[in-house]
Order: sequence, then structure tokens, then C-alpha cells
Amino acid sequence: MLDPDSTRHEDLRTGKSPWLAGPPRPASEGLEVDIRCDVAIVGGGITGALAAEHLTALGHDVVLVDREREGFGSTAASTAMLQWEIDLPLRRLTTLYGFDKAADVYQRSFKAVAGLRERVSQLELGCAFLARDTVYLAAGDVGPRELLDEWTLREKAGLPGALLDHATLLGSFGFDRAAAIVSPGSAEADPLSLCHALLRVAAGRGARLVRDEAISYDSTPRSAVVQLASGRTIEAGHVVLATGYVMPDCVRSELHRVASSWALATLPQPPSVLWPGPALVWEASDDYVYCRTTVDGRIIIGGEDEDSDDPDRRKALGPEKTDALLGKLRALVPGAEPTLGHAWSGAFGQTADGLPLIGRVPGRPRMLAAYGYGGNGITFSFLASRIIGALIGGAEAPWFAHFAIDRPDPAKM
Ligand SMILES: Cc1cc2nc3c(=O)[nH]c(=O)nc-3n(C[C@H](O)[C@H](O)[C@H](O)COP(=O)(O)OP(=O)(O)OC[C@H]3O[C@@H](n4cnc5c(N)ncnc54)[C@H](O)[C@@H]3O)c2cc1C
Repeated sequence: MLDPDSTRHEDLRTGKSPWLAGPPRPASEGLEVDIRCDVAIVGGGITGALAAEHLTALGHDVVLVDREREGFGSTAASTAMLQWEIDLPLRRLTTLYGFDKAADVYQRSFKAVAGLRERVSQLELGCAFLARDTVYLAAGDVGPRELLDEWTLREKAGLPGALLDHATLLGSFGFDRAAAIVSPGSAEADPLSLCHALLRVAAGRGARLVRDEAISYDSTPRSAVVQLASGRTIEAGHVVLATGYVMPDCVRSELHRVASSWALATLPQPPSVLWPGPALVWEASDDYVYCRTTVDGRIIIGGEDEDSDDPDRRKALGPEKTDALLGKLRALVPGAEPTLGHAWSGAFGQTADGLPLIGRVPGRPRMLAAYGYGGNGITFSFLASRIIGALIGGAEAPWFAHFAIDRPDPAKM
């Protein structure tokens, strides 16, 4: 588990992703006096930024605190495939929770990507956001029969998509795999530009960005207080924790673990080697490889996950993982030029059931948490902003329990 006091951005990611040269982020400053606000958000990555934009749109007076440069934690390492398909296939989520609940989760994920797309368009956020299909490839133990089961369940849940056999997949996309499910409704973006654009909108509506470290929290039934390392305090109607994979001690879940993941971006490719769409591509196996393209024609490929969250080990494994990913790129897209533009890696938080941790912090009235874990991190961060906005406004819905921080491990039920 990452130490909440000592973990810094340099422990969360290594190397350089293609996103680091985006437009400037809004300025943050230290506090000269103790302040009060409606909502204090701790963490200025994509999760905090989505919450800040939504909560200011709802009319709340928001203060967002980050101890480092907003967006330069895990958000800058993201490959930003904004998928509604969850790491855990619908058939496995159905085994864990039953069809009705699993289908509801998938539908909410689908609506979250649609909601994010609509918001980016309404606010005209410059972040290379593009609607994309996904191609979910047969891999490992998951062959045509398993994909047919998955597709059948998705269809029953009202989710869109088509099952392609080997010949159709090869002819349409050039991927030499036994089968695939091709689905509309996902997207890609530059995650750092998206984060900073959202923060600029929130700041434009009066949100204050504070550079400081939250070191402790107090909460009562009427308000919550964030104690900062500078000695200043922020008293708020609600505190939202959005500290990424670094969870404070007051939030604990037996479902959560942090691993490591690797990615690379090639140099821009000749357009003729890219597949139609270009769709987001991912494999149906547990240790899946995935790829997407960028607006300047690079291929980003990622995967090669390892259980360790140790930054030194992550760094040491870098060259080996880069070679492995280039090998997988050659196998998947034989016409691609296996050039190396960027290589990076990052801590990668996951949960045992593939779902995020969102909602009230147990035993801490007035404290809420937004932890959008897994390969759908950003989709779930959008969902978190909406659930948290509703909870702060006093609304409650039975489905919020799907993502509750203190939900039990279904494998132990
Ligand atoms: C290699 C890789 C590939 C990925 N690919 C995808 C993908 O394709 N699609 C997808 O949806 N997701 C993907 N993810 C996951 C996604 O990147 C994360 O879910 C997301 O970036 C998390 O954002 P965050 O805002 O929660 O965390 P962060 O970006 O880490 O932000 C948290 C912030 O909190 C601040 N903070 C922490 N503690 C304190 C404190 N005590 N006081 C003040 N500030 C504090 C930190 O400084 C940091 O800036 C990927 C992740 C990795 C590593």
C-alpha cells in the first residue's frame, strides 16, 4: 500500500508520457488565513478536476488542494482510453453480483462515458477528445465461445455491440484473432489537457486552487475540517478525497490493491498502417495488452502489469517491459513501425471486483471519497463526480451502494 504521507508524483510514475506538453494549468497559491467553503476537494488530478467542475456548476463554493502540480500524478501517466467496458467482463461481474446488478453497473458506465463526452462538448474543452469504438479481442482462455457468452449478456443488458468472427475481424480491422466484440460509445482524450481544462473552468467560476498538503481531517455531523501542512485550516460543509492511489488512513478497503503498469507511444505512423476508427483495442485476457492512437498518428500500447507497487522495481523493469510491448505491437499490428517515441510506467490501483470506491467515508460524516480505480479510472472519476454531487445535494439512490467504500469483498461473501 502506498504511504499517504511520503508518496509523491515521482513514486506514482516513471518516464515520459506524450501528454506532458499541454496548455498551462490555472495558478494555485498558499493560504494566508484559515478559510471556509462549501466543499474542499483534496487532490487535483482528473478525479478532483471533474468534481471541481461539476460542483462549481451546481453552485458550490469550492476549494481544491493539491500538494504538487495538479494533473502530474497518475493522471499524466494515463493512456486515457475512456471505455464503458469494465475490466471485469459482464459475465464475470454477473457471477459475482448477479445479472441485474452487473448489468446496471455496465449501463451506468456506458452513461458515464456519454455524460463525459457531452460535458467536454458543452464546455468546448480542448483535450483531443474523440468518440471511439472499441475492439475487444479474443485472447488467452477467452475464445469465440466466451465472447459469444459475453456478447449475449451485453445484448440482454441493452448494451450495443457486434460479434465478429475471425474472417470478418481480419477483413475489417486486420487483427488475426479468433473473434472480437466491436462496440460504439467509448472515447479517447489527452488526460492532462482534460484535467487542466476542467480546472480552468472551475477556477473561472470562482474555485480556489490551493498549493498545500492535507495532513489530517476532522469531521462532525455539521462540517469537516482539513488541516494543512502549512498550519492553515479549511472548514467545509463537505470534504471530497480525490487523492488517487494514495489513500489516507481513514479510507480503507479490503478490495483495493496497487500494482504497476507500463506503456509506450511510437513515433507517428503512416496513416495506412492504422486500423479503422482508429478504435480502442484491448484483449479479453486477464493480463491484457491494449492500444489506441493519438491525434498525431502515434500508437500507444500498454499492459505488462506486475503486482508490485515499488517505484524502484518499476523503473528497473522499464527496458524489459518496453521490449515486450514493442514485441506485442509487432504481433498485433504487423505493418506498424515499432519505433519508440515515449516510454513510461505508473502505479495502477485496482479493486477485486473491478469497480471504483465512491461515496461516504465510513465513520466520517461530511467526508466523501472519489477513487476511480482500474482501467476505467477516468470513466469512474466522472461517475464519482456525479454521485458526490448528488450526495452533497442530499439525494440518495439505491445504486450508489454498488460502489460503496465499505462494500464487502464478494469473493468472501
Ligand atoms: C499506465 C497507466 C495507464 C492507464 N490507462 C488508463 C486508461 O486508459 N483509461 C482510464 O480511464 N484510466 C487509466 N489509468 C488510470 C487513470 O490514470 C487513473 O484512474 C487516474 O489518473 C486517477 O486520477 P486521480 O485524479 O484519482 O489521481 P492523481 O492523478 O494521482 O491525482 C491525485 C492528486 O492528489 C494529490 N494528493 C495526494 N495526497 C494529497 C494530500 N495529502 N494533500 C494534497 N494533495 C494530495 C496528488 O498530488 C495528486 O496530484 C491508467 C493509469 C496508468 C498508471
